Amino acid sequence: MWNAIKRKRHARHPEPEEPQVRDEPKAAAEAADIVCDRCKRSVLQDDSDGWNVVLDKGYAVGFLCPDCQTAEENAEAEVHEATLDYGAGQMDEDGRVRWPQKGSSHSIAVGGHGAMRENKAIHLLVSLEPPVLHVAVGPQSDARLSALFENEVCRKAVHEEMSRKGAEPGTRDLAYLVDSDMDATEVWVVEDQAMAVGGAGAHKLLVICSPDIDPYLLGTFAPEYADSMREAIHAQR
Ligand SMILES: [Zn+2]
Repeated sequence: MWNAIKRKRHARHPEPEEPQVRDEPKAAAEAADIVCDRCKRSVLQDDSDGWNVVLDKGYAVGFLCPDCQTAEENAEAEVHEATLDYGAGQMDEDGRVRWPQKGSSHSIAVGGHGAMRENKAIHLLVSLEPPVLHVAVGPQSDARLSALFENEVCRKAVHEEMSRKGAEPGTRDLAYLVDSDMDATEVWVVEDQAMAVGGAGAHKLLVICSPDIDPYLLGTFAPEYADSMREAIHAQR
């Protein structure tokens, strides 16, 4: 049944044709026509490696090609690369692009999910689309699962959404499963029966994650749960 769940999920969220580009100029190129401030060369005529974004109050206000950067600006580019989350650029209404700091606190969106409505074995579905953490719950969710989250605001939001949907606390223990087919930005919590392995009735909830789980996603879980996920990943290797 777990495979059926996954197939359904992939059908619902088809994988992008190309992996998401996380480096600075290409992510920016999607949002704006990028031209070097000094030599006016377009990023499209160039191997985009090494371009720097010129920031003002976090907004991109210009770009510099590698040839036009001073050593200092080149160093700045390295710092940007290390500190900004280029996968999460957002354009405001004026067309200005800004990137959040890596590891900055994510906002949270709680709600439901089609897969959960169809399959009552799914208790919780967490996915990270920087800078937003999405948490889907349903009336079948074990209400104690709100305690999984490290952040108080997050925990409260999940708890309230569960209450709203009529979820009640259960009595199951958690077990951890590492699945290399999982997206690194998703964590699912399902009934062990859904796995159709080890027989029914173990009465556990399985926390399923990728061995390559996004560290920022892992960081949204309370330390004891994050540690258990790390241990499960470590044990698999
Ligand atoms: Zn230039």
